[in-house]
Amino acid sequence: MLKWLLLIVGAALLYFWIKGKKQAKEAINNPSRTKPGKAKIVADPEAMVPCQYCKVYLPKSDALEFEDRAYCCREHLNALDEQGWLGSAAWRISPNQDTRPENSAPDLLVVHHISLPPGEFNDRASSHHIIDFFQNNLDPSLHPYFQEIADQKVSSHFLVTRTGQLIQFVSTQHKAWHAGASSFFGREKCNDFSIGVELEGDGETPFEDVQYQVLARLVSELTKSYPQLQFAGHSDIAPERKTDPGKSFDWKKFQKATGLPTEKLPFGLHSR
Ligand SMILES: [Zn+2]
Ligand SMILES: [Zn+2]
Repeated sequence: MLKWLLLIVGAALLYFWIKGKKQAKEAINNPSRTKPGKAKIVADPEAMVPCQYCKVYLPKSDALEFEDRAYCCREHLNALDEQGWLGSAAWRISPNQDTRPENSAPDLLVVHHISLPPGEFNDRASSHHIIDFFQNNLDPSLHPYFQEIADQKVSSHFLVTRTGQLIQFVSTQHKAWHAGASSFFGREKCNDFSIGVELEGDGETPFEDVQYQVLARLVSELTKSYPQLQFAGHSDIAPERKTDPGKSFDWKKFQKATGLPTEKLPFGLHSR
């Protein structure tokens, strides 16, 4: 009788020992099944993103985001980066560009005006047409004037719209195609050594205050990278062909907004 009892107890102990080992093994292989019904306590680590300017990684929730770019701080968002792109501008890359001679740094900023169709800038359509034009996407069927210009391959580095939106098309390190045949105190082909900035307008209608403000902030960032910059209108470097930025561009207001010394404005402060 005792023999049988010992045998049963022994078999039961063996059974529980084997069962215990099996559960322990399962727990090692699949830890999430060990406590069914209990939520995972450890959250996924937060996504890290690099600052577009300095490349330092930071949690996505701490980053300043503009368009699809992230920045670690306001200063880096506003700055011109090492590739010649301004963080605070919307980037709409134009194919109409090439390299500067011997990758030289620009020392001239050329102010232009543009509106598409000319003189029509009371809604947002003109800004979109300018972007399309610089990206070779202008639809010639939209306006007779577009048929004339749709095949032109032109660009500028920057555009400041009537509402103060800042758009960049070409890196400042590259040549944009904005000046055409031109001469700056005897130096031909100004595209080689200049940055082109278009203001949306027609040259007759006064430019908006916000355009001067955005232009001044742009100049302030650009002169940090290019302290040798001088400033001229398109009509100053191509007087036979061009009249922009025109009479309504107020050079005195521009100087006041930028704080530039007069010698940086070699064509003077008069309207022209
Ligand atoms: Zn940064
Ligand atoms: Zn121009």
